[in-house]
Amino acid sequence: MINIAIDGPSGAGKSTIAKAVAKKKGYIYVDTGALYRSIGLYVYRLGISKEDKEAIKSVLPQISLELGYVEGVQRVYLNKEDVSEEIRMPEISMYASAVSAIQEVRDFLLELQRDMAKKHDVIMDGRDIGTVILPDATVKVFMTATDEGRAKRRYKELCEKGVETTFEEVLSDMIKRDKADSTREIAPAVPAADAVFFDNTEFGIEESVDEIIKIIDNAIAKRG
Ligand code: C5P
Repeated sequence: MINIAIDGPSGAGKSTIAKAVAKKKGYIYVDTGALYRSIGLYVYRLGISKEDKEAIKSVLPQISLELGYVEGVQRVYLNKEDVSEEIRMPEISMYASAVSAIQEVRDFLLELQRDMAKKHDVIMDGRDIGTVILPDATVKVFMTATDEGRAKRRYKELCEKGVETTFEEVLSDMIKRDKADSTREIAPAVPAADAVFFDNTEFGIEESVDEIIKIIDNAIAKRG
C-alpha cells in the first residue's frame, strides 16, 4: 500500500492540497482532524468543559465514529449522524484541540486511522501521522506557511461558509491552537525526523499539488 503522511499546523493548506493529490493519484484522502473534531463536537453538545479531562474520557465509550466517502469526498459519522459540516465551526476547532491532548482520545482513534492505511492507498492529513500513526509511511511531508498566510486562507474559508468572524480572531485562535498542538506532551504536532518540509506560502494550489506529487513520485522511485 502507498501511505502518504501530511502533517503541519492548521491552515497550511494540507486538506486542499492532499485532496487534489488524492484525486490525481487515485489515493483515498483521510482527514484525521475530522475525527478529533467529532469527539470535540460530542463533548461540546453535552456541555462538558473542554478542560474536564475525566468527563471527556468517561464519555468515550458512548462514541462511535465512521468515515465514509460520497463521490470521493470524506464524510464523518458520529453515532451514525453525518456531522461533516458542523465540525467545521470555529468553537469546535478549540474543542478538537483540547480533546486531542488526551492520551485515551488518541488511543481511541489509533486503530481506525491505521486500518484505513492498511486497506487503501491513502494520503492522510493530521498532526502526528508521520510520527505516531504511520511511522513507516512511504513519504512524510511537513507542510507549513506563514501565520498570516495561513490565517488569511482560514478566514476566507470561514467567510465563504457564512461564519461570522474577523481576521484578527481567526489569527489569534489559530496561533493559540497551534501552540497547544505543538507543545503538548502527547503526540505533539512536530515534524518526523525523516519528513520532507514544504513551505507553500509563495505557492498557488496547482503548484503545491505538483510539488507534492513530485515528492511522492521521487520517494516511490527510490523505494523501487
Ligand atoms: O486538522 P484540523 O484543524 O481539522 O484538526 C483539528 C484539531 O485536531 C487540531 O488542532 C489538533 O489539535 C487535532 N488533531 C490532532 N492530530 C491529528 C489531527 C488533528 O491532534 N492527527
